[in-house]
Amino acid sequence: MRLIFLGPPGAGKGTQAKRLTDKYGIPQLSTGDMLRAAVSAGTEIGKRAKAVMDAGGLVSDDIVNQIVSERIEAPDCAKGFILDGYPRTVPQAKALADNMRKKNQVLDAVIELKVDEEALIRRIENRVAETIAAGGTVRSDDNPEAFRKRLTEYREKTAPLSAHYSEQGELVTLDGMADVDAVTEAIERVLEKASA
Ligand code: AMP
Repeated sequence: MRLIFLGPPGAGKGTQAKRLTDKYGIPQLSTGDMLRAAVSAGTEIGKRAKAVMDAGGLVSDDIVNQIVSERIEAPDCAKGFILDGYPRTVPQAKALADNMRKKNQVLDAVIELKVDEEALIRRIENRVAETIAAGGTVRSDDNPEAFRKRLTEYREKTAPLSAHYSEQGELVTLDGMADVDAVTEAIERVLEKASA
């Protein structure tokens, strides 16, 4: 099962992807997590990405394409993977398609979670409050200014992916405003159809 989750920051992609990893035994590949790990480890990529990420901008296509191309070859991806936060631009989608073709991998579904912006801002505020309450560290891009920039980047660069995948007949759009369990059930119905 090879899946892409599309949707703006705070739409619930990560939450839903985590739920599916157990059920299908495939990893969640979050480019945001991979980049944050690179920043923490102080790698060359991390050093190049940090300032862009903190400001809510997008890291260059070349960097993320390279990271994902290597990651999907790892043994734990043999049965499939869930891409969360990638692709985020049309050139990334094209690079992914090329990469998967070369590796004889086929995409099973592209699932878009639709949510309204007011709800997104509330979700991010809740995520920050919950992280603080749990004694965790708040992401450096979970502040109002960077979040607005992340939404703008989404509208300008990532939203066109809906039309891109829709033209290819691969897109399924779900209501991301529904209750978390209801969204999971809706996703599972889509995946049952895709694997039938
Ligand atoms: P996320 O955890 O998906 O919200 O990503 C956090 C940040 O990592 C984003 O705001 C970008 O700066 C960067 N990032 C993650 N995935 C990508 C991607 N596919 N392309 C470019 N930048 C990305």
